[in-house]
Amino acid sequence: MPLTPRPVAVLFKAACPDCRARFELAAGALRLAIGASRRTTFYSFTCPECGTAVRKPAGERIVELLTGGGVRTLRLHSTV
Ligand SMILES: [Zn+2]
Repeated sequence: MPLTPRPVAVLFKAACPDCRARFELAAGALRLAIGASRRTTFYSFTCPECGTAVRKPAGERIVELLTGGGVRTLRLHSTV
């Protein structure tokens, strides 16, 4: 049997545009929303410093990183 890859605890670096704090977030603290276009594809988190809900656009690379890191993904459109 092939080795089963174990989930790795990944930390994502993020910064708050509101209070300018920099921090690292675990996958569980982030959410990714994939929309029909790049404009509607974004990730969001709550700043641990000031509590602001932050939403940032997610490019292809970020989407790959986040999904690969086990971040919950919400698909806003259905292609089926
Ligand atoms: Zn903040």
